Amino acid sequence: MALESDVARNLDEIRSRMAEAARAAGRDPSAVELVAVSKLQPEERIEAALRAGQRIFGENRVQEAAGRWPALRERFEGLTLHLIGPLQTNKVRQAVELFDVIETVDRPRLAKALADEMERSGRRPKCLIQVNTGAEPQKSGVLPPEADAFIESCRREHGLPVVGLMCIPPQDEEPAPHFALLRKIAERHDLEVLSMGMSADFEIAIRFGATHVRVGSALFGERPKAP
Ligand SMILES: *Cc1c(COP(=O)(O)O)cnc(C)c1O
Repeated sequence: MALESDVARNLDEIRSRMAEAARAAGRDPSAVELVAVSKLQPEERIEAALRAGQRIFGENRVQEAAGRWPALRERFEGLTLHLIGPLQTNKVRQAVELFDVIETVDRPRLAKALADEMERSGRRPKCLIQVNTGAEPQKSGVLPPEADAFIESCRREHGLPVVGLMCIPPQDEEPAPHFALLRKIAERHDLEVLSMGMSADFEIAIRFGATHVRVGSALFGERPKAP
């Protein structure tokens, strides 16, 4: 699985499955983007994806992304980097500098810290609000009943460039109702971006309106365990 041709072949296959899922849902395939989730993956697999033309990547830790992407940005043009993991307020400065999209805005203190840092630096990465659709205690994200008020306050009070929503459904449940809920909340706020769907369920997510699917292991192979 470490072979360059494997990553290129997986990429091809995932792209065709995405296009097929979009067409089956009566959607334009170009309206769905692939976020290649590169967390914990060896560099050679990431470079293989880059050489095969992939340009949108997702990382879940600021520190790990900071160690890898500045150098890759110098070698590969047109990269877009998404933060898809929880963001601590003490990492906000680094995150705003490094990422183009922050998918995990989920609490007032973080919203305020992001707004302050954007004001200070002049950099304005796009923001998604993470919704904990399954109301799982161990998971990040704003709870569904609090989502409307939080989205409003991120936009109006903090002036954040909020463009959409993100969710990670509970592992042991049907994902479809969670995707449907996320879409419903997004529609209430005229938000265009829906980041939902991973290796196991991206086609279902596309059926429910995903504009971004976050695919890691199906593209790069199994991840080494987190240290
Ligand atoms: C790791 C991760 C993914 C990718 O998961 P796979 O099952 O490997 O595709 C997607 N989204 C988030 C938030 C993740 O942390």
